Amino acid sequence: MKKKLDISELFNKMGQNRNTIFLIMCLMVHVAYFSVFLIMGAIPLSVVNAVSSVFYILFLFFSKDREKSEKATVSAYFEIIAFSTVCELFTRNTFGFIYFVIGMVPVIFYLSPSYGSKRFIFQIIGVISALMIHHTQILIPDSFFQKLYKDLLPYSNAFNFVNLVITLFTILYTAFFYTLELETIKKELDYSSTHDPLTGLYNRRFLYDTIIKENEAQISIILLDIDNFKKINDRFGHDKGDEVLIQLSSCIKEEVSKDGFYPVRWGGEEFILYYRELDIESVYELAKHLCKLIPERVVLPDNNSVTVTVGLAAGKQSDFDSIVKKADEKLYYGKNNGKNQVVI
Ligand code: GH3
Ligand code: MG
Ligand code: MG
Repeated sequence: MKKKLDISELFNKMGQNRNTIFLIMCLMVHVAYFSVFLIMGAIPLSVVNAVSSVFYILFLFFSKDREKSEKATVSAYFEIIAFSTVCELFTRNTFGFIYFVIGMVPVIFYLSPSYGSKRFIFQIIGVISALMIHHTQILIPDSFFQKLYKDLLPYSNAFNFVNLVITLFTILYTAFFYTLELETIKKELDYSSTHDPLTGLYNRRFLYDTIIKENEAQISIILLDIDNFKKINDRFGHDKGDEVLIQLSSCIKEEVSKDGFYPVRWGGEEFILYYRELDIESVYELAKHLCKLIPERVVLPDNNSVTVTVGLAAGKQSDFDSIVKKADEKLYYGKNNGKNQVVI
């Protein structure tokens, strides 16, 4: 379990830095090609890769945060187009440097989300460049770079294959991290649309949209309201008031977890504890337990306790609104009769 968590954390970290990792990978490819072409005596190609490596060192140097690393990636995109064009000229379209340009067309979309619809312009430039590069051999006379071309020709299949693999890997790599990011955003959105941001309890919307579906289910409701909360705010400040709400919510979450139980922040300092298929006597016992426990757990700076008044009601889920109304009447009765009690 722990190991799985570590891996997903690692992936998240990598995803956040995916542009920087991409730039590092490009630098590694250029350094490798610089060395290989140097060893092969293909000096013009070696020089091209040396120049590109210097570019990537600069890109990496300036990509200190996400925004800058996206800028550096867009610069790298145009560098790749220029690099591939030059290399295809030298190798007369036999080494597959064109794959880099084709592969970058989807990749630039994933790696520069903050550029919005500008990315489509980048992609069109990429597509046009790829088509032009594909036709370079028509434009260049046969005698051009003839010697270099002849020396390199026996290796063209190997280079072609390696360039294809690098390109495919880059597409998979970026698509993976982009999907991961989208999933994380979706989870966060799902969470924030169904939970109260302050207390982490469910919100009203969750209860109505997700829970209240099986109309025939028997439900019980605890409507819980903090006593004199306005005074707590006035006396200790709004922040302390917020802290009281958080502490009380954790107390609810820790104490009552049962199947078919949903704690909801219903309004400012009002909570609904919703139970499905639990008899009203058990719910009554739980409410009494909470009423006793909360003053022990949620304590104010002057050592006074926070108390709650609770109204209980039960019925069929199809009558949810009238059950809440009933619970509210009980609550109102409790508030007018000394507070700090459970009314059923
Ligand atoms: P009673 O005992 O009759 O319930 O009185 P009360 O003071 O608790 O109730 P009242 O309805 O008069 O006041 C509720 C207060 O809760 C008013 C509002 O400013 C405060 N409140 C609502 N939401 C929040 C919140 O998110 N944070 C804080 N700190 N206060 C809140
Ligand atoms: Mg109150
Ligand atoms: Mg209230």
